Amino acid sequence: MTVKLDPWGHFAIEKYEKLFTQFGIEPIDKVLDKLPSPHHFFHRRIVFGHRDFDKWLEALRRGERVAVLTGFMPSGHTHLGHLMVIEELRYLQSLGAHIKVVVADAEAYAVRRRSRREVIEYGREYITHALAWGLDPDKTEFYFQTANTPTYYRLIQMFSRKVTMAEMEAIYGRLEPAKIMAALTQAADILHLQLDEYGGYKYILVPVGADQDPHIRLTRDIADRFENELGLKRPSSFYHKFIRGLDGNKMSSSHPEYAIFLLDPPKTIRKKVFMALTGGRATAEEQRKYGGEPEKCTVYELYMYFLYRSDELLRRVYEECTGGVILCGACKRRAAKLLLEIIEEHQKKYREIAESGIVEKMVRIPDF
Ligand code: SF4
Repeated sequence: MTVKLDPWGHFAIEKYEKLFTQFGIEPIDKVLDKLPSPHHFFHRRIVFGHRDFDKWLEALRRGERVAVLTGFMPSGHTHLGHLMVIEELRYLQSLGAHIKVVVADAEAYAVRRRSRREVIEYGREYITHALAWGLDPDKTEFYFQTANTPTYYRLIQMFSRKVTMAEMEAIYGRLEPAKIMAALTQAADILHLQLDEYGGYKYILVPVGADQDPHIRLTRDIADRFENELGLKRPSSFYHKFIRGLDGNKMSSSHPEYAIFLLDPPKTIRKKVFMALTGGRATAEEQRKYGGEPEKCTVYELYMYFLYRSDELLRRVYEECTGGVILCGACKRRAAKLLLEIIEEHQKKYREIAESGIVEKMVRIPDF
């Protein structure tokens, strides 16, 4: 069965490996030994695939100016799924990359049908979280799509000339005008940093969830067609698996009861973790006898993505679970405690950043 990647849909991918053969995404394995410093998202294969990430790392090694561009769709409050990208940005920033983050407010308005006021506020919240999670304000740029400079809009118009409808529908399926605009705008988001006016970064890396690959494919084709005219080069990308919501589907603000939002009150977070889908057996007796199934468990995923950076600690959870040493109630209690420690610390920093007014100083926030 083929996988359909829809950047505007809500779905979980069952078999990420299929994306290698179907779309030509490269497995991350061969790049692992080229990473200048380790990060658990990579060796745990949470980041599972890439396009030309090795070339970007090579440019970084040679001391070329490299940049990272990624985005946030402000159609809801920030949750752990969004935090994955922020975590990746923090890592890439530590390697010396320039970081630029687009708040896709035009897209959220047109495609997700949110009001302008909502998307602006969700965007402001996301930027505040990114800074609170540790992105360096001196080395990070944020912008809203609707508040960029004229050359960026000119790119969107220019790109429309060299893309056909048939080609776009081959990548995305059936498209309405809002999605055509959104796709071309994303291409401008990814490629504009290569122009001298925006820094002239020729090596751009786009870290995203696997569902965003259609935008990367379109953008790489567009870069090829504008190589002579604008000197554009193909961007690189890498892809992470989605963290699942606590019901086992992709974490999404459309299903708030199963998502962990970064501003959820501690009581709510505890409650959500306690009702999470696990890989536990039907009875305590069976679990002690056969062990649990961490591969199916959304709580284990919390340990793997955010709670334990130490492989040794993670391995212990795995063995306790599969060996029937721990039951799900105790395991959830420990996960909730660890998660709350992280989130409460983050919320404290969030409040400090929000009160400091730094976001308004750094970013031009649209009026409506
Ligand atoms: S013991 Fe923990 S890791 Fe294992 S299935 Fe239960 S909650 Fe998940």
